[in-house]
Amino acid sequence: MQTNLRSLMFALKARDIELYLSNEADEHFVITRLVCSKCNTDFYPDLLECYFCGEINYYLFTCTECGDFSSITGSSRVCRKCYPNKDGEKPTKKYLCTNASCVSNTNSEIKKIVISKDGVFKRGSGLNLSCTYCINCGSPRHEYKSFRVFLYDKEPFDSSNYQIYKDEHCEVEDLIILKKHENNQIKYGYEIIGKGTDAPSFDKTLDKIVVEILAYNQH
Ligand SMILES: [Zn+2]
Ligand SMILES: [Zn+2]
Ligand SMILES: [Zn+2]
Repeated sequence: MQTNLRSLMFALKARDIELYLSNEADEHFVITRLVCSKCNTDFYPDLLECYFCGEINYYLFTCTECGDFSSITGSSRVCRKCYPNKDGEKPTKKYLCTNASCVSNTNSEIKKIVISKDGVFKRGSGLNLSCTYCINCGSPRHEYKSFRVFLYDKEPFDSSNYQIYKDEHCEVEDLIILKKHENNQIKYGYEIIGKGTDAPSFDKTLDKIVVEILAYNQH
């Protein structure tokens, strides 16, 4: 595979795009993402929601004594608000539901059970469900969106040469990312074949392209 195409793959991967190599040819790769069929928001099949109220998991610990929230990543189980000087410290942080009016927080019997299981969002506690609805619009419908991705970076940019390249390599719905140098800067543009954007404008950042191609509805 060409080095430039490989760099583009890494750049998209760094932006959380799932991609894989094509087994047809090495001048393109394929990107894919699970999105809501209705509003195109990313769909997270491994997101957990509270069994009792449907609140999603924000990956926070809640201190069972003072109610303080803290991120679960790299965070100790001891609350520094409750135990500022390490005196008699206890691990009081649990994976509780962050919705204050959830019965797992308001009903003391249920809360006792939840705490004994380390919290609603403890993996394998049986107190959470895989989220099967879009977090943006609530639709349960989701689909994989995928594109074959080509990189066109011949310089200087020449539109007739570009047309020849497209005719030779590309099909409808393929994504071509265009790249060129201008005033010591790298400029990007893109085209989805068959979408009628035949005068590439080189006026976008890679991030903008990622947002736009994921919002593009194939159907
Ligand atoms: Zn809840
Ligand atoms: Zn505390
Ligand atoms: Zn949605």
